[in-house]
Amino acid sequence: MSTQINFNGVIDETAVISVFDHGFLFGDSVYEVVSTLGNNPCFLDEHLRRLRASAAAIQLEIPNSDAWFKEQIEKTLAAARNPESYIRIVVTRGTGEIDIDPITCDKPNVIIYVTPVKAYPKENYENGISLALVSIKRNPREALNPGIKTGNYLNNVMAKMEARKLGAADALMLSPYGFLTESTTSNLFFVQAGRLMTPSLECGILAGITRDIVLKLARENGLLVEEGRWPGEALDNADEIFLTGTLKRVMPVTRLDGKPVGDGRPGPVTRKLARLYEARVASLVHH
Ligand code: PLP
Repeated sequence: MSTQINFNGVIDETAVISVFDHGFLFGDSVYEVVSTLGNNPCFLDEHLRRLRASAAAIQLEIPNSDAWFKEQIEKTLAAARNPESYIRIVVTRGTGEIDIDPITCDKPNVIIYVTPVKAYPKENYENGISLALVSIKRNPREALNPGIKTGNYLNNVMAKMEARKLGAADALMLSPYGFLTESTTSNLFFVQAGRLMTPSLECGILAGITRDIVLKLARENGLLVEEGRWPGEALDNADEIFLTGTLKRVMPVTRLDGKPVGDGRPGPVTRKLARLYEARVASLVHH
């Protein structure tokens, strides 16, 4: 098992980045996190599509083709020799002057990290995790659209720290307009009277790839689904809450602000969708 870094197509586990890189200096970068099954990347086409959409939204031109990314990821996975890997793709504006203007950056830096995956403990899935509604807000879409997956995660970092201070595992953020958005690295779902609800993209969230799959699975399985806009208080009456993300998959939330959610156990809708999602991921290796 090892950590391997692919830096602009060269694998070097001791790779370092310039202190003049604008990703480092200004958070001027985009990224993706990809998980593996059987050490093969899951939903890689979807992640590459979102990476390109994020890059386009910040006017960053990625010179490499999807075929190039796939080949480099495969090479790096082979070099790392892990049973399962965590893959992080980062594309920065590149190295330039210490000036906010990206015009001095000649070309993007493309970094692919491959490291042994750190799976969440089984008890998180069996018992659920705790969340805290924090005071730090998710970015408004008019400032830095959370739909763009950039290296600018400082408010999420601060939300995470605030949640920890409140004794919770992770944070739930409202938009500056007071509507539910998402957690620091995952999307929010809740269940009320058998209906599945999740904040709409208009609330200012990342269009999670896991979110998308869970929504499809829910609709295919006859659940009533609502994408909408709710204040934080909407969760007071939630029977179930869960989070979705590439690494968390479907993660039950059983405590919110120190109080139990529903009966304090992962609920039936959460468990059903978790099962369906696991089956969907497992089906990837048979293709
Ligand atoms: N929301 C945020 C802010 C994230 O950073 C992430 C994942 O990285 C997600 C949601 C979940 O997205 P996905 O399911 O594509 O991993």
